[in-house]
Amino acid sequence: MKYDYLIVGAGLYGAVFAHEAKKAGKSVLVIDKRPNIAGNVYTKETEGIHVHIYGAHIFHTNNKQVWDYITQFAEFNRFTNSPVANYKGKLYSLPFNMYTFNQMWGVVTPEEAASKIEEQRKEITGEPQNLEEQAISLVGRDIYEKLIKGYTEKQWGRACKELPAFIIKRLPVRLTFDNNYFNALYQGIPVGGYTKMVENMLSGIEVRLNTDYLENKSEFDQLAETVVYTGAIDAYFGFRLGALEYRSVRFETELLDKPNFQGNAAVNYTDRETPWTRIIEHKWFEFGKDANGNDLPKTVISREYSSEWKPGDEPYYPVNDEKNGALYAEYKKLADAEKNIIFGGRLGEYKYYDMDAVIASALEKAKRCIR
Ligand code: UDP
Repeated sequence: MKYDYLIVGAGLYGAVFAHEAKKAGKSVLVIDKRPNIAGNVYTKETEGIHVHIYGAHIFHTNNKQVWDYITQFAEFNRFTNSPVANYKGKLYSLPFNMYTFNQMWGVVTPEEAASKIEEQRKEITGEPQNLEEQAISLVGRDIYEKLIKGYTEKQWGRACKELPAFIIKRLPVRLTFDNNYFNALYQGIPVGGYTKMVENMLSGIEVRLNTDYLENKSEFDQLAETVVYTGAIDAYFGFRLGALEYRSVRFETELLDKPNFQGNAAVNYTDRETPWTRIIEHKWFEFGKDANGNDLPKTVISREYSSEWKPGDEPYYPVNDEKNGALYAEYKKLADAEKNIIFGGRLGEYKYYDMDAVIASALEKAKRCIR
């Protein structure tokens, strides 16, 4: 055996585990089938702008240990995510807060807003059973219809009644004037881009790109004592129990010869008719400035379209409904019976992990397994 660890996937989970293994004196090989490291947090520079190639990634966490860990590899700027919703041409503030309630109903005080929500949430009695009921019970029917229903159904390709309630609980609801999308103590974008950050995590570690583990699995398995697999768990087992469902995302990215397209990093299109879910204007993650603090004359935007994953697409979001949860549980049994392999990350664990949770989980795994 040439290596202690073969890490399949150079995304955040793989990079954290690889870094920890190397630090513990282990020999490590990282492979990735893509031509680049950093998985879905990969950024690429165009005209001085770090373009989030696999969609917007805004780092946020309440976990001080994770924050201290990640800031070893990059300095973070003070970006605060405050997306704007565009519903049929009218703009609303997100997440749901006093600005939104004022725009929606003309209410001015928190008491007025609370009573409006109270009146509208009455239609839900008992514990919310799905995303629709959860949303109405959080913010009432008006906001559900205009800011949630269309967006969610586009993003997930499923009716809100068929989606789990927890997805909408990711969003804060506040009776204050606060457009910060996250309830997080720490938030920001790594200065110099995510790719640079992951490069720092993988510093001194052998990395082979354009290298597909599953195509030559038995050869790769010979190379290392332990495999850390961060790809899709159903693909690992050759889909033998059937395919898990994922949502995929497609981006139409354009370089525009103007300095400002939409005045914000993210605008969500929450009606059903607009075919894209959101438009990202990448320069605003870094305040429209280049590395020297100069204003950038051009801009790059990405329209984001959601679709059901099919073979050949990139899987982005696990569909954590009952049916897929049950199938995952069966795959998990197979995974537990395998020897010398760790399954980790969004795809390896079929879990809607945020970046900080992925880092925490990789750190925890590394602590328990590397000796
Ligand atoms: N969501 C919504 N309207 C919005 C933004 C989000 O209804 O304008 C809902 C939608 O169901 C989405 C969920 O909130 O799936 C979580 O959104 P988040 O922004 O956390 O999703 P991500 O950025 O991970 O795609």
